[in-house]
Amino acid sequence: MNHLLTKISCDTDEIKLKTLNELKNICNQCKACELSKTRTSVVFSDGSPNAKIMLIGEAPGADEDASGVPFVGRAGQLLNTFLEEAGLDRKKDFYICNTIKCRPPQNRVPTNEEKLSCQAYLMGQISIVKPKIILLCGATAANTFIEQEFKISQIRGKWLNIFDDIDVMAIFHPSYLLRNHSLEQGSPRWLMKKDLESIKNKLKELE
Ligand code: SF4
Repeated sequence: MNHLLTKISCDTDEIKLKTLNELKNICNQCKACELSKTRTSVVFSDGSPNAKIMLIGEAPGADEDASGVPFVGRAGQLLNTFLEEAGLDRKKDFYICNTIKCRPPQNRVPTNEEKLSCQAYLMGQISIVKPKIILLCGATAANTFIEQEFKISQIRGKWLNIFDDIDVMAIFHPSYLLRNHSLEQGSPRWLMKKDLESIKNKLKELE
């Protein structure tokens, strides 16, 4: 993958797209962990490589494994609804991916070994896309970057100091919101709306 890293400094849209496609082609052939034996598709990304926001989820589920696209199942559809209500455009404002690119059987949480095996792809995506904002969607995505113990309910909604030049926020995963229907003040769905408001404000500041 070294030749990819040398190209990352070439920052035109054309080179960015070409380099991402090269990384995706390598990823599509990947057999670095056991999940390669049970996957239907490698689920690399969705959205725009030129987006200012990168949303990182946990892992593909059954619908994503079948389609090869992240966040297309029920949780993904709920995410779309929240984004639309916040006036954010999934295809234009976001580059969307997961911490690992292949579905764990029965949607179990990815192991640390699987996350480590897949880390080069995620870090490659961050290096190439160069987002201004990263959203860590759910606890599994958050603990890829945060070493100390935390509860997602305690850290969500705060701007975290993880990268020097990227604003990072943890948010609830939409699959958690599927199990929590209340819109009352202080409820997870209410907090998600609030977080998306502050993300939209941050995006405006960056424009
Ligand atoms: S999960 Fe990542 S490391 Fe494992 S086979 Fe898929 S692409 Fe390779």
